[in-house]
Amino acid sequence: MNPLYEHMPTSIFERMSLAAARQGAVNLGQGFPDFGWPPEILEAAARALLEGSNQYAPSRGLPALREAVAYHYRRHFGQDFSAANVCITSGATEALGAAILATVEPGDEVIVFTPAYDSYAPMIRRAGGSPIEVALQPPDWRIEADALDAAVSPRTRAIILNNPHNPTGRLFDRAELDLVAKCAVGSDLIVISDEVWEHIVLDGLEFTPLATLPGMAERTIKVGSAGKIFSLTGWKVGWIVAPEPMSNALAKAHQFLTFATAPNLQAAVAFGLDQGDEWLVPMRRDFQRGRDRLVEGLTRAGYTVAPSVSTYFLCVDLERSGVGVRDEDFANAAVERAGVAIIPLSPFSEQPPSGQFVRLCFGKRDETIDAGVAAMAKARELFL
Ligand code: PMP
Ligand code: GLN
Repeated sequence: MNPLYEHMPTSIFERMSLAAARQGAVNLGQGFPDFGWPPEILEAAARALLEGSNQYAPSRGLPALREAVAYHYRRHFGQDFSAANVCITSGATEALGAAILATVEPGDEVIVFTPAYDSYAPMIRRAGGSPIEVALQPPDWRIEADALDAAVSPRTRAIILNNPHNPTGRLFDRAELDLVAKCAVGSDLIVISDEVWEHIVLDGLEFTPLATLPGMAERTIKVGSAGKIFSLTGWKVGWIVAPEPMSNALAKAHQFLTFATAPNLQAAVAFGLDQGDEWLVPMRRDFQRGRDRLVEGLTRAGYTVAPSVSTYFLCVDLERSGVGVRDEDFANAAVERAGVAIIPLSPFSEQPPSGQFVRLCFGKRDETIDAGVAAMAKARELFL
């Protein structure tokens, strides 16, 4: 078999969810909410399943959904998109795969800020490229000009930016986005902008799509996900939005990954994007409450928690919490001996990470968070 896959471990999200199920542990690992999806969108999906088509959708997506995605971004961020810019995919993970396959040629380098979502590096390698890691340094995890400039070479083809950022919960500020844009324009690079968390922004902060920066509309491939917008991660409906003619090449990559995505879920997502703007504010409020509850509980249990203002993740600094073990060892002990699944950050980079951090999901009901905090208190005691 291809050695890339033969030697690859199973994704940390899958490993931790399986361990949680095996141990009966609270799952604050893999990122999925346990509340909050709008019932109306489930009804729209049920209607579409019973009354709509259950045959292949057009490869680029249902016209109604492509139009709904374009209109969503015109309305929310003033972006000049039409259906021609949109290709619907089976989740953002497929969108990222298609974007990487359509962009990277053998020998190319792709800059990745770490810690990074775990699909980027393997897909870059499978396309024949090399991921070049730019390590964001804790506790601030800022994009720094020197580190970014040092990563650029004549072989650099693209940058992958993830904003808002999983796993740190950072929303990169305008100065950091300007650095990325300046670098991309200056070296004529494509940016694959993974913006799946665009609507899960807390504390009244506002998200800025990278393509809205000067010089970026023509070089940005945006990746989005309905799973995140509607708290329905299992639906795996995502999209790529890019200028023509890039969008046409991206659609070719997509056509031989999955060809098309379930039509009923697409129809329901189109309904949600058209009707669901008023769902966004309560969603942010509820996730913010979850964050505050988890921060408060972990702090009470003696942990040092890094600030998080977006996504539904926060990170705990093990060293500063007085826990002197590696992140993976701590996470394994937490799920096996204390009853809580969490995610170590070391699988988010190929290079050894700076510091020892674990990520916890706060998109959960109060009782789930409270049970997770109690188990985290127990986990800390294992190492004191
Ligand atoms: N990118 C990032 C940064 C993510 O956090 C996730 C999922 N948590 C994805 C992509 C994948 O999204 P999807 O489930 O739509 O494939
Ligand atoms: N993106 C989700 C997370 O960060 C998990 C996605 C997956 O399981 N592949 O937890």
